[in-house]
Amino acid sequence: MQAYIDSADVGHFIHGERVNGTGTRSQSVFNPATGARARKLLLGEAADVEAAVASAKAAFPTWRDTPPIRRARVMLRFLELMNRHRDELAAIITAEHGKVFSDAQGEVSRGIDVIEFACGIPQLLKGDYTEQVSTGIDNWTTRQPLGVVAGITPFNFPCMVPCWMFPVAIAAGNSFVLKPSERDPSAALFMAHLLKQAGLPDGVFNVVQGDKVVVDALLTHPDVKAVSFVGSTPIANYIYETGAKHGKRVQALGGAKNHMVVMPDADLDKTIDALVGAAYGSAGERCMAISVALLVGDVADKIIPKLAERARNLIVKNGMEADAEMGPIVTRQALERIESYIAEGVKEGATLVVDGRGLKVPGHEDGFFTGGTLFDNVTPEMRIYKEEIFGPVLACVRVNDFTEAVELINAHEFGNGVACFTRDGHVAREFGRRIEVGMVGINVPIPVPMAWHGFGGWKRSLFGDTHAYGEEGVRFYTKQKSIMQRWPESIEKGAEFAMPTTK
Ligand code: NAD
Repeated sequence: MQAYIDSADVGHFIHGERVNGTGTRSQSVFNPATGARARKLLLGEAADVEAAVASAKAAFPTWRDTPPIRRARVMLRFLELMNRHRDELAAIITAEHGKVFSDAQGEVSRGIDVIEFACGIPQLLKGDYTEQVSTGIDNWTTRQPLGVVAGITPFNFPCMVPCWMFPVAIAAGNSFVLKPSERDPSAALFMAHLLKQAGLPDGVFNVVQGDKVVVDALLTHPDVKAVSFVGSTPIANYIYETGAKHGKRVQALGGAKNHMVVMPDADLDKTIDALVGAAYGSAGERCMAISVALLVGDVADKIIPKLAERARNLIVKNGMEADAEMGPIVTRQALERIESYIAEGVKEGATLVVDGRGLKVPGHEDGFFTGGTLFDNVTPEMRIYKEEIFGPVLACVRVNDFTEAVELINAHEFGNGVACFTRDGHVAREFGRRIEVGMVGINVPIPVPMAWHGFGGWKRSLFGDTHAYGEEGVRFYTKQKSIMQRWPESIEKGAEFAMPTTK
């Protein structure tokens, strides 16, 4: 296993084997803490997608016909292996993504939650049955797998987001082709290896590394029946439209701009703790990060000085160091994009209270680091309010009251996550009911739903009808069939030309 991870070249996993594929193109994978090129990623081509889909298609009939309880047992063994190798996987994530090790462990745990959920697949696939829908006739529904399905995942959760997809898809009887992010591709290969060790038949789970070439080959391949995507909104939109045009079922989760409303009656110390963690944790590279604080009434004057102190004193360093609170940004380009947004905010007239730009971490001078940034007096027409920055930048907007806060959130193009901090039950209830956002936290800053509840935003944060994982995930990866049955003794004589009704 170790040799596999230490290898300088990151390749594909097709038909149960690690392969280099047919391509000649490659891309560097960096260690963001040092800025050094750590590995070479071999980018796949359409021929590699062809090989992976052919393997998945060949594996499908036998896997589909494997009783769900036996599929669940493979998942149980995979669950055991994931628990055993949790820290190795977390270290791989920190090395390629940069997030602090405890956060990477948390990501793996949230991925494992979905694997546990998938272990219950026999219960989840159990259909409905009605005896005697008409005299001598019974009717039942089953859910059957779709065939070969694909997943395309972002850099920010290289273990958890794939785990939103493949455990449920595979347990439901599908075979899977995963296209991980080019920026941190090794976690997917590590999990592929564990799945094989768990006894998953070759071809049921494949990984093809690559870029748009691989994505497009999957989106247009006639044997791929469904595509799950998680990433930025423009790409999610493209995936949804292209996949749908090619007759696929698509679920495409996009970007976010998550607000936290702070009411004057909130416990302000606890709110500050929550805001600092939710804005700067994982360097703000979470789709559920809080990037906007809506400070109601006189809250701003009370909390901004304290928030500023916390942002200034964040411990930013290599994520493998025990006391690190925030690691580096994933790539130099991402760092430059974040810092250019900060410059834009200043130009637009927001008050830059804490400027994280230009941070140098001793011993890691070439690492992709930036500190926590805090803006005050941000207004809704500014780009730093409207657009997703995806970095450790918190924009504070001063609002007069609760109604203004709700109107602002509801008018925003994104609707992924949102939080309201208050002690007032009526405000909390109204917030939950009126807010146009898919995932809501009341005094919970990052309300990522548990494995059996399903994850998904509203508006331009999700294209498609179903949320990821949970029962919605099972529905996405299966199609319903209704079977109506009767036996010769109960068949009446003579043809019937009227619509059948209960007799
Ligand atoms: P991204 O959109 O750049 O990449 C996501 C995937 O799409 C990757 O596998 C990438 O290779 C592929 N891709 C990139 N450009 C493409 C193109 N032109 N054509 C086809 N495929 C392409 O996203 P990212 O930077 O890896 O991840 C961060 C984004 O993901 C943020 O916007 C974040 O909000 C979002 N995200 C959303 C959720 C959610 O649940 N809504 C969860 C995690 C991340």
